[in-house]
Amino acid sequence: MPKFSSQRRNKRKFHGNRFTSKQRVQDEEIVALESTSSGSGASSLHCQKEAEECSASFQKLVTNTQEGKPKPEVDDQISEENSPAITGLRFCDMEVLSSVFAQLRCGDCGNFSLLLMEDNMKRKGCASTLRLLCEHCGWKHSFCTSKKQGKSYEINRRLVYGMRTIGKGYAGARKFCAIMNMPPPPTEKAFIFNSRVIGRHVKEIAKESMKKAGQDIYAFKNQCTASEAGPFNCGVSCDGTWQKRGYSSRNGCVTVISMDTGRVLDVEALSQGCKQCERHEHLDKTSLEYQTWRAEHTKCKANFRGSAPAMEPEGAEHIFQRSVELHNLRYTEFYGDGDSKSFSRVKGVYEDAGIEMEKKECIGHVQKRRVGTALRKLKRENPGLGGKGKLTDSQIDKLQNYYGIAIRSNVGDLAGMKKAIHASLMHCASTEARPLHDHCPTGSASWCRYQQDKANGTKLYKHGPGLPLEVIAKLKPEYI
Ligand SMILES: [Zn+2]
Ligand SMILES: [Zn+2]
Ligand SMILES: [Zn+2]
Repeated sequence: MPKFSSQRRNKRKFHGNRFTSKQRVQDEEIVALESTSSGSGASSLHCQKEAEECSASFQKLVTNTQEGKPKPEVDDQISEENSPAITGLRFCDMEVLSSVFAQLRCGDCGNFSLLLMEDNMKRKGCASTLRLLCEHCGWKHSFCTSKKQGKSYEINRRLVYGMRTIGKGYAGARKFCAIMNMPPPPTEKAFIFNSRVIGRHVKEIAKESMKKAGQDIYAFKNQCTASEAGPFNCGVSCDGTWQKRGYSSRNGCVTVISMDTGRVLDVEALSQGCKQCERHEHLDKTSLEYQTWRAEHTKCKANFRGSAPAMEPEGAEHIFQRSVELHNLRYTEFYGDGDSKSFSRVKGVYEDAGIEMEKKECIGHVQKRRVGTALRKLKRENPGLGGKGKLTDSQIDKLQNYYGIAIRSNVGDLAGMKKAIHASLMHCASTEARPLHDHCPTGSASWCRYQQDKANGTKLYKHGPGLPLEVIAKLKPEYI
């Protein structure tokens, strides 16, 4: 892994290939330049500010481009259509950029002598300050590659937001920048600061979005029912997830999604640990130092004691208990895992109002539990089942997905569903030497591409590794 040097490097010059490509500026390029300079108001406020502050020559550049050079005749409409205002960020190779500048004339002296450099002293994370210098007359202009957002640069904010979204931190950002051959990201301190700011805003937005989602359902139910005022009853899907798979996860969250709109109504994050508490654990509990810290520590992050699987019912209970207060809604239809302990925990929440909750199954959960979880368990208990060419994890995922297709395409038709489930197993177990597609639907519209081939007279379908017969025999009772 390449390491970043801690010292600042000397100013680096991008010479590009201006000596090899010193041709006349193409007409199109003049058009492109003019359209960007005339649209500079839209392209960046920062640029304008810089221009006012630092260089009158920048403004000269903007105005002079029209004067000194022959202006090609272009149809205004066409040029507008071809060059819509460009926004957002791009990864741009500095050598490419500097070779573009090498093809442009200096606004002051008119020579092809513009040099692009970076001011390393002014670089803030991924926001670089670039400087254009005319080697002939000394004209110069510097600008930053990113706009400012409050105290931070947009690019740095976005980098932190992006990293946090994909579950990476500062180390991840450093690696990413190193591999992309970019300057290193902001310092760890700045990274954490940005991360906190983003966290605050994201939380607020999420709150607003959930409030809006609740209001929408309230309005929808209000239209549907004769009664004027809530609380109204609605159906939700409830599920928990953990930071890590298995039972060792210390953080988890429970989400409730509306069955009517598919939008998130409420979330509850549960954590077993608190960094602050852990830091003060070694202190004597009777000492003044501990006592004063304890008195100050009002926002403890640890809100849950117990095992990871017990988080889901706990979180669900909190969410259901505050549903009336939060949205004036009652989540009376519960879609969740078949074996979910959450339902038994929350089913009495609305008892006082005389309302009983109804438990429903949803296909996503059925396919995960009936196939995914069941087959993984079967494999654990029968070591002979797994291994290459047998029941692998990817094979289980495939079976699980086909199971879902079989159920979804046969809603309301139990016999058809059973047949389709059987067909899905046989289809996945097929190999090139032993095709088992007799149960798959025939014809060119079939989901089975083997049958499609048969109907169309083509040979496009390629079999996967399939499953041996003895494995199929073991799976069958689990499946049907
Ligand atoms: Zn010059
Ligand atoms: Zn704490
Ligand atoms: Zn098939």
